[in-house]
Amino acid sequence: MVSLRDIALVILGISFMTFITFFGRLPIFRNTPISYLHRLIWIHLPNFLTSIDQRLTSGRITSNTSRAYNFIMYDRHPTVLIFFFLLLSVSEYFYLPAAWPHFTLVHQIFGPIAIVLPYLFLYLACFTDPGTITPSTHVYFMAQYPYDYTLFHPAIYCSTCRLLKPARSKHCSICKRCVSKLDHHCVFINSCVGSQNHHYFLLLLLTTGILTLYGGCLGLGLVSASVRTRYPLWSVWPFSSSNSSQSWSQYFISWQYGLQFSVGMGAVTMLALLTSPLVWGLLTYHIWLVYCGTTTNESMKWADYQLDMDDGLVFKRKMNPNRPKNPRIEPVWTRWPVEPEQVLVRTEDGKPPRGENLPGVGEWEPVWKLRDVENLYDLGFWDNLLDVLWPGYDFRQGDDEMPVSETRGRSKRRSRRSRKAKTSGAGASIASTL
Ligand SMILES: [Zn+2]
Ligand SMILES: [Zn+2]
Repeated sequence: MVSLRDIALVILGISFMTFITFFGRLPIFRNTPISYLHRLIWIHLPNFLTSIDQRLTSGRITSNTSRAYNFIMYDRHPTVLIFFFLLLSVSEYFYLPAAWPHFTLVHQIFGPIAIVLPYLFLYLACFTDPGTITPSTHVYFMAQYPYDYTLFHPAIYCSTCRLLKPARSKHCSICKRCVSKLDHHCVFINSCVGSQNHHYFLLLLLTTGILTLYGGCLGLGLVSASVRTRYPLWSVWPFSSSNSSQSWSQYFISWQYGLQFSVGMGAVTMLALLTSPLVWGLLTYHIWLVYCGTTTNESMKWADYQLDMDDGLVFKRKMNPNRPKNPRIEPVWTRWPVEPEQVLVRTEDGKPPRGENLPGVGEWEPVWKLRDVENLYDLGFWDNLLDVLWPGYDFRQGDDEMPVSETRGRSKRRSRRSRKAKTSGAGASIASTL
């Protein structure tokens, strides 16, 4: 029979691997054991196995494995979505029959709500169009954001869709379409996270986080109650004074006793408690991106800019926010309340850009730090959040007639933007495979 220790080790191992895989690339973990483990597992180990396979089978196993890996990660199909759906459903199948009779009325009311909401937001995140840019939607999406002349420059066409790329959009190579304000392609929802379903994605993370924490804590309460029927002074916290007379092995034996209440429910409780920090971590990361007024895709662009700044390759100069626009390459009007006042370019040789037709006015000056650059898409946390939660919200309501540079609230927004620009690249490059 499978012991509690084996179940715990397997669940712990899966959670740890998931953490390393998804978070190991974050700059915050650079030069830490987490990033070294990520490189070991995802770069050095595969290279080592490939070299062995080259010698033994001339690389046949590797090519089949990498084909399967590429199929899972880079082709559009619902395998991971089905896995996620089954993980939720099977966990609830094992958990609920044992736990439900012990729930109080409050939990019998809130429990079903907590269970249903992740399914609802999973459905909405999957089946709401993320903001596909087609000839019929192009005008609408062009009017969402102005080009910031920093991350997004006008007059760039998508070679596949053959349409002018709206600011903040990106072509998804998995879905083979351009998506408005593309955050990333998410294998869990088998779709892109873009301007039109970003809020459902965040709500999916939030409700899944609540479900795992809520279910985990309730399960823990039931298991502890079961242990206490035999050891009345027992506490979940191993360092508690009531456990002081127990050795570690006695502590784990008492757990085993408690899980006899229901092994399935106990395993799901552990799974929920171990995966919950991952979900909350991911949600925190996405809220952080909202706070910085950026997306996963843009945070990688900011991080690239910082590397080029370190090499002295980036220059900026001023831009007149009220300049006449060429309607053939950029929208004359957008719903966004601010216009760019800077042009940022990178050069190959570290010398100021040359050429008469470059946008902007005045002298080019080198830029060394992200904090010296404005993020046009950061209006402050609450407006950034409003932009995510209410796709297409018109931030220019009521002040259309005023010159752009004098609109109400602009100075406040500007100071917040410049203050936070330095941080927006800090959370760059979470695995875009999530
Ligand atoms: Zn495209
Ligand atoms: Zn996609």
